[in-house]
Amino acid sequence: ERERLARLLHTPALTLDGEPIELLANIEQPADAAAAVQAGAMGVGLFRTEFLFMGRAGRLPDEDAQYRAYCAAIEGMQGLPVTIRTIDVGADKQLDKTFKDEHLNPALGLRAIRWSLADPAMFRTQLRAVLRAAVHGPVKLLFPMLAHVHEIEQTLAQLDLARTELEARGVAYGALQLGAMIEIPAAALTVHSFLRYFDFLSIGTNDLIQYTLAIDRADESVAHLYDPLHPAVLRLVAEVIAAGRAQGKSVSMCGETAGDVGMTRLLLGLGLRSFSMHPAQILAVKQEVLRADTRRLAPWAQQVLAGEASANLSAS
Ligand code: PEP
Ligand code: MG
Repeated sequence: ERERLARLLHTPALTLDGEPIELLANIEQPADAAAAVQAGAMGVGLFRTEFLFMGRAGRLPDEDAQYRAYCAAIEGMQGLPVTIRTIDVGADKQLDKTFKDEHLNPALGLRAIRWSLADPAMFRTQLRAVLRAAVHGPVKLLFPMLAHVHEIEQTLAQLDLARTELEARGVAYGALQLGAMIEIPAAALTVHSFLRYFDFLSIGTNDLIQYTLAIDRADESVAHLYDPLHPAVLRLVAEVIAAGRAQGKSVSMCGETAGDVGMTRLLLGLGLRSFSMHPAQILAVKQEVLRADTRRLAPWAQQVLAGEASANLSAS
């Protein structure tokens, strides 16, 4: 099976009806970029930068260290786009014991963009490093866990300030496409506000499912209730995809669901055209893409959404 999949490495990811599908990699370290390219990724859809910050005994990498890490990822991708997500610590991803989150409910607490906005100087250090790295290749900047319009505005104000700081130092910086993770139900339900501010969206199903179904994504005792096919989850996902498409803006998905071959046809039927996943999943998802006809999948996906058809592959 692995050999058979390997033959698909250089096959363009086109559906039977000729729709080009973007297959991207999720990475955690710059060194992962090489594996992503080898796996046939067309870019990095999610660089989880918190892994650069974790396990460092409380000392965060400074601007230059971050800049070098982002440049290494960009260089590793050989001209393909790299989507850098700002730090998403908190909840299940703690920096280390000295930063231990003592809040009652860390998944609902100070994590991701909330953590960044609570320490603007630290946040701008990361933003300046990304802006500088963008001189060396195509970079997209992605913000996690946004829910409120005022958070979007604060985030973009910090980005403006980071540019101003670089200008004052006479340091060059590059252009960025800006995107938001849609991973809180409130964000999915107000996706039009997000489309006003951002160039692209990325659906984070790991958290979107967790927060929609009130299931801790790390709690084994309720893992059987963690369901990407729950009609409420599907509706949020479908609406985000449709809203992005209606405005001609790219909508990607970067949660585990994007790399689940059992979900590929349904997501294609719902209009998703960009998937970001662990590099090891790319060829298997590509195989599903090559067998799919989006014109036939679209009406079936609408029926699944309406609860009138089974999401089960064989039943379609
Ligand atoms: C997600 O929530 O789906 C996601 C991709 O982000 P993370 O798993 O890093 O929270
Ligand atoms: Mg997430």
